[in-house]
Amino acid sequence: MGNKCLICKVDDKKMPLIQFSYQGKTHHICTQHIPVLIHQANQLANILPGLEDVSDTETFVD
Ligand SMILES: [Zn+2]
Repeated sequence: MGNKCLICKVDDKKMPLIQFSYQGKTHHICTQHIPVLIHQANQLANILPGLEDVSDTETFVD
C-alpha cells in the first residue's frame, strides 16, 4: 500500500509527500497541497473532520 496525498491522491513516485499526524492518525500530503493545510485547513474538513472551525490564517499581507 503506497502513501498518497489526502487531497489529490498523488503518490510518492510523482511528488514528494509530507507525513503528518492529526488526532492520532497519520496522513500524507504532497508538497503542492501543503499551503492548503497551512492556510485553509477548514477546506479539508470533509477529509479530516474536526477542522471545520479552524480559521484561515493570515497570508502574507503588506
Ligand atoms: Zn496533493
